[in-house]
Amino acid sequence: MKLSPSLTSVCAVLSLAATATAANTGSPFYGDAPDEHHPWAIHDQNRPQPKLVTPGTFSSQEQPGKPPSDAVILFDGTELGKWEADEGEGVPTKWVVKNGAMECVPGSGYIRTKDKIGDCQLHVEWTAPTKVQGESQGRGNSGVFLMGLVEIQVLDNYNNPTYADGMAAAVYGVNPPLANALRPPGEFQTYDIVFRRPIYKDGKAIDPGYVTVFENGVLVQDHTRLEGGTGHMARSKPGPFPEAGPLKLQDHGNPVRYRNIWYRPLPQRAIEGGTDGYLTTEATMAKRAEIAAMLRQDAEKLKDPANPVPEMLRLAESLVYEHDDAALQRAKELADQYMAQLQQLSPDKLAAKKDELKHLRDVTKYLARFDVIPDDAETKVQLEQIIKEHNWDKK
Ligand code: MG
Repeated sequence: MKLSPSLTSVCAVLSLAATATAANTGSPFYGDAPDEHHPWAIHDQNRPQPKLVTPGTFSSQEQPGKPPSDAVILFDGTELGKWEADEGEGVPTKWVVKNGAMECVPGSGYIRTKDKIGDCQLHVEWTAPTKVQGESQGRGNSGVFLMGLVEIQVLDNYNNPTYADGMAAAVYGVNPPLANALRPPGEFQTYDIVFRRPIYKDGKAIDPGYVTVFENGVLVQDHTRLEGGTGHMARSKPGPFPEAGPLKLQDHGNPVRYRNIWYRPLPQRAIEGGTDGYLTTEATMAKRAEIAAMLRQDAEKLKDPANPVPEMLRLAESLVYEHDDAALQRAKELADQYMAQLQQLSPDKLAAKKDELKHLRDVTKYLARFDVIPDDAETKVQLEQIIKEHNWDKK
């Protein structure tokens, strides 16, 4: 395709803009500033890096996959040291380990983790008995009880009709799965679950809680709203909900087998003190104050009588998060000192500072845009004048 001359010039400008954007990405004065619900700027360089996790591998029928590096392993196919009977603390379970899987011994009761688990990503694999017995809820029935309270149904409803809200991967009695993606009995099924418990404060739900489930990689619960715990025949009743509880697996009288069970605790939601997401103004301002204090401390370390720029920039950065009279005053002093030094420079030495001056001018524009300094701040106006006089924006 041949580009028209005008389109070619537009492309050239866009390409230049892209280069400029890439060059500025390391600057703290770049994306939209923090606001009353977000303590971080857009593309904020001060925002902590996510932790490194080495991903695991997928399971095959023959072999369980490897969990991610930060997973807490509850059952690796060898022993039940992290589990106990649901009857009481320290009571050994009668469930048995056979061929790399734990098996429910009918009549022995639920099994539960010794760990108390709250919000988590949970991976569970299970298989219903190959010998098909029973119908509807009587075939290959067990259950994954999150915090011992919310049942994600385990059931062999492969060619086995039952009520929709009791099918495999249903939030039992609350919400049917979006699809029936079961494999035949005897094959391992995988559940990947994201669980956010209901949060109550002063007797009121401030977050109802949600669960997302993938059954064999197919989305079957899409951020399903919880309504408290689940139960048989009874609608769940909202009410106070603990912060954590044991994971339980159900004995429903069928020898269902489990393998490769692990979880990853999830970070706090904004509503309970997390600092990502849409925060309350109070929480946002507290975090912004914390970041600003860290930057002011850092500015102290950058004091250099020969070069006021690094300290000045760090203080300017801190002011984007939080106004502070002393920091503003000190930044102004440093700016005055810097501008006075400029007056002493020969034209050649001033020209050598062209890029620095343009950057500082951009910083003042950013600060004015987000009301940290007035639009007619002296340093900003002076920098604009110098750059205009030398026509540096064009050169
Ligand atoms: Mg069940």
